[in-house]
Amino acid sequence: MPMKLNIGDVVELKKQHPCGNKQWEIVRTGMDFRIKCLGCGHQVMIPRPKLEKSIKKVSQVNQGAQGV
Ligand SMILES: [Zn+2]
Repeated sequence: MPMKLNIGDVVELKKQHPCGNKQWEIVRTGMDFRIKCLGCGHQVMIPRPKLEKSIKKVSQVNQGAQGV
């Protein structure tokens, strides 16, 4: 069952970024996701299956999203 993840959603990962932040905003969806660290603004590309495994929880859902 795929997770519902949309652009603008904020997710909390199990592993924290070196800057100390655990929350990331989704800035691009697709086969590969692009996520932005809310602590330092660093962006990374990550394959969807890998991202889903590393998400601890979805902490904020973007209500205005148009689906995947
Ligand atoms: Zn960071």
